[in-house]
Amino acid sequence: MSSPPPDLSELYQQVILDHNRNPRNFKRIESAKCKAEGNNPLCGDRIQLYVQLDDDTISDVGFQMPQGSGCAISKASASLMTEAVKGKRIGDAEEMFEAFRTMLAGGANAPGKLAAFSGVRAFPSRIKCANLAWHALHAALQGSAAPVTTESARDF
Ligand code: ZN
Repeated sequence: MSSPPPDLSELYQQVILDHNRNPRNFKRIESAKCKAEGNNPLCGDRIQLYVQLDDDTISDVGFQMPQGSGCAISKASASLMTEAVKGKRIGDAEEMFEAFRTMLAGGANAPGKLAAFSGVRAFPSRIKCANLAWHALHAALQGSAAPVTTESARDF
């Protein structure tokens, strides 16, 4: 008896679990010129994002979440986001954000591993968890000093 191949949703779940357990780029970047803070009071997720730019390229990116303040979805999403945008141009990163948002709003899957979050669509209350890091990235790139919060952003 051979076991059936894991279905896609299981594979996706593994990606999220892996990034939650071992978040990539989980670091503070003291010298970062672009920083942003994100808050999702509905779930209790809080993120501090650091973006280092080299001209219009994201040369380094890191994030921190105060102990116990990030759920699995928000942490895994932040980890995958940093992995996806590192080394990319600002415009490409913003396009990825758009693709990610479109996916969660019911559109086509975002490219690459970001598609792992397509399952979040079925849980509307968790969409803000998945989007949080991306909104923080957007705010950091815009040079916005005000913390982003899921309560004030109408199109979150
Ligand atoms: Zn959350």
